[in-house]
Amino acid sequence: MSINIQEIRSQFPVLTREVNGKPLVYLDNGATSQKPKFVLDVLDEYYEKYNANVHRGIHTLSQEATDKMEEARRKVQQFINAKNDYEVIFTRGTTEGINLISNVLREVLTAEDEIIITEIEHHSNIVPWQILCQRTGAKLKYIPLTKEGVLDIDQLDNLLTDKTKLVCVNQVSNALGVVNPIETIIEKAHQKGAWVLIDAAQSAPHTKVDVQAMDCDFLVFSGHKMYGPTGIGVLYGKEDILNSLPPFHGGGEMIKDVSMEVSTYACLPFKFEAGTPDIAGIIGLGAAVDFINSIGIETIHNYEKELVDYTIQRLSEFEEVEIYAKDAEHSGAVSFNLKLDGVHSSDVGMILDKKGIAVRTGHHCAQPIMQHFNIPGTVRASFAVYNTKEEVDIFIEGLKTAIRMLG
Ligand SMILES: *Cc1c(COP(=O)(O)O)cnc(C)c1O
Repeated sequence: MSINIQEIRSQFPVLTREVNGKPLVYLDNGATSQKPKFVLDVLDEYYEKYNANVHRGIHTLSQEATDKMEEARRKVQQFINAKNDYEVIFTRGTTEGINLISNVLREVLTAEDEIIITEIEHHSNIVPWQILCQRTGAKLKYIPLTKEGVLDIDQLDNLLTDKTKLVCVNQVSNALGVVNPIETIIEKAHQKGAWVLIDAAQSAPHTKVDVQAMDCDFLVFSGHKMYGPTGIGVLYGKEDILNSLPPFHGGGEMIKDVSMEVSTYACLPFKFEAGTPDIAGIIGLGAAVDFINSIGIETIHNYEKELVDYTIQRLSEFEEVEIYAKDAEHSGAVSFNLKLDGVHSSDVGMILDKKGIAVRTGHHCAQPIMQHFNIPGTVRASFAVYNTKEEVDIFIEGLKTAIRMLG
């Protein structure tokens, strides 16, 4: 499929603005993507035309809101190829999805159990597991990084034991943009009878995510990094596993019957969706899926790969630039530093901002990776489908200025 970038760009109102007198070059999509007008209109339409609480009312507005929300659930189901729509649980985002699982596992894990994470995780796929292990006495282990900055997957065989209950890993690293070998991890973990949780926050916007082909047990991602609203995300879980777990929050919507002594819980997905959900956010996320489908995730993937490859190629022209995990497969982002004495990533970020170029600098909520490289942070350029090669060129020109000013 061919791609008309100018047409796509015209759907994003914010891309017409200027920053510091220069056209905005937005390369901070790994933190959050911009939103197309279509998604913004769907949010307005909900509040303007059929705002009502869901699943409770028999009146027309409530029915319409419920129908739209459940339609969004089916859109997400198809987007990740889940077997059933009720395996899609709406959360506030990746962080909440991981915390949901880590909290309900408090009643399931014991001091005999082990969890494996990796050195390339976002803090939100580290800290909840540390808390869970502190509470249960379970042991937390991790797959280390190689010197180059990719997972040392050969270590996995030694780390996996009959005690391993869960392995948690991101599909694509937010800090380095590196693609992780999740197929191998899932296969080996399953051989030991462990569950696998995939953090797809950085893959869902860029790559076809197929939970059945992957055969992961849980998968989490955020709406706001894939052209959807903030505050909405998804936890996918296999039906029988979700059914076997205790509930997370208690409240309305998640129960079947309540007496003053005991309650029985609603079936999936409502068992894990206590309280009034972010109805607008859910419908907006459905619209974001429509937006992605209107281009095609494969087309997006291929186009963004060109952008990332081009960026790595252009960055390689500078002897002052060190690209992290340079030779590894990248998706959506590139991380680097200037090898200049006393220069911090934020110095580069500030000079680029003066030129209207938005990149992220710092530790990217992944301090263990920074400790691995013995650096305080990196500069990260991260992409969305509306970015262009011309923007990469502007970014590279900005970087030349930064090297001149800081060198
Ligand atoms: C952004 C991100 C998270 C956290 O997502 P939130 O939307 O902030 O909850 C977790 N993991 C990865 C890989 C991310 O990129």
